[in-house]
Amino acid sequence: REIPSNPNDSVIPFVLFTELPFPVPLAEVSLMNKLIHTSLVESQQHVEILQRDPSSPLYSIKTFEELPLKKELLQGVYMMGFNRPSKIQEQALPLMLAYPPQNLIAQSQSGTGKTAAFVLAMLSRANANEKYPQCLCLAPTYELALQIGQVVRAIGKFCTDIKVNYAVRGNRVLKGTVLEEQIIIGTPGTTLDWCFKQHILDLTKISLFVLDEADIMIDTQGLSCQSIRIHRALPKSCQVLLFSATYKEPVRAFAERIIPDPIVIKLREEELTLSNIRQYFMVCQTSDEQALRCPSPIGNRGTVGLSLSLCVQTRRLADWLSGKMSRDGHQVAILTAELTVVQRASVIQRFREGKEKVLIATNVCARGIDVQQVTTVVNFGLPMDQDGEPDFETYLHRIGRAGRFGHRGVAFSVVERGAVGLVHKIEEYFREYPHGSAAPGGRVGT
Ligand code: ADP
Repeated sequence: REIPSNPNDSVIPFVLFTELPFPVPLAEVSLMNKLIHTSLVESQQHVEILQRDPSSPLYSIKTFEELPLKKELLQGVYMMGFNRPSKIQEQALPLMLAYPPQNLIAQSQSGTGKTAAFVLAMLSRANANEKYPQCLCLAPTYELALQIGQVVRAIGKFCTDIKVNYAVRGNRVLKGTVLEEQIIIGTPGTTLDWCFKQHILDLTKISLFVLDEADIMIDTQGLSCQSIRIHRALPKSCQVLLFSATYKEPVRAFAERIIPDPIVIKLREEELTLSNIRQYFMVCQTSDEQALRCPSPIGNRGTVGLSLSLCVQTRRLADWLSGKMSRDGHQVAILTAELTVVQRASVIQRFREGKEKVLIATNVCARGIDVQQVTTVVNFGLPMDQDGEPDFETYLHRIGRAGRFGHRGVAFSVVERGAVGLVHKIEEYFREYPHGSAAPGGRVGT
């Protein structure tokens, strides 16, 4: 059948997944998702606001001009191509920029504009005439910290007097150094070191503290305790902003330890659905044919991305496949477990920029990758549980899209003849539970 054409497919057309035998660190998944998001993830959900003190004023804005932003920052915002605030920004930015400063917890899924929001707050609060650190932002990893720095540089393009330094491993500073940068972005460990061992970062002068990716902080050994130690040393008047993609109980408890009586802004994640995905199954006689068929959804249109598991056989298949596809003229990039996080980031970046049109991702990279902006996904084989039954949840996560009005997509599953039974089970299951929400094993969320 005809593959529906999509105007975006010259950028991110295909990802092919196989089995996923081991988990990926959340911070790495978050980084990959950040890199893969070329634009805002739009949501149909309403923003929910919880506040213990009902007297504190709340208002939302529809344009960036309504905010107390200096003109250089507005210029920066428009230079980025942001025409209007995202849903979470509409509610959060007035609070973040208010006088007197307000503490805030904001939760929304990756790609909804949180980073841009707190970067605007930091660039707004930083006083370029004062040459000492005033805004401190903590991120769980080196790479995520650098990623935030890039956003600061981009949005702050016209705020030339505001400087950034990074409290991250490898950025050695001599004892006695006087930090002149107004914004410090760091990981909790190195930041602690700069504060209490090196004594180069004076926390008593920090007026804005941002804690990003709180859910990852508490998922990663030691980071939440280190963050709490840093927070304790801040002045009472310091504004605290905490961001998280999820807000389950452990995150809530941690967040409220840092910000008692908070205003919480939440944007519920949308349920994944297959209703806007065209699903194709290609049944092959042998695994050789299965491999041969992989590139066929591409035809002359250019591209596929795929992931292969790390067991030897499949790796061989991956090499064969990438070799064949390269020879057929496809530009193929491979994400494997052997790559460092930096190398992986660069592969995704090139894929995002369209330098490679085919992404072959192994298990380690596939889980958690946000395919919202990927127009076509190819499954090499179907995901199965230990009993050999279809893994409906993984199937939905690999190819599903949020909301009825979300991006349309196409999914191909190339399966062996023996797996036809699984195809029928998947078909039946999702006819009955389009969101996977009545799954026997519980609710399937995004
Ligand atoms: P999050 O921190 O929630 O993952 P980001 O702030 O990184 O989200 O934003 C995701 C993507 O959307 C980025 O590419 C960013 O440049 C873009 N973006 C952020 N805010 C806006 C906006 N108001 N309008 C358009 N694009 C935006």
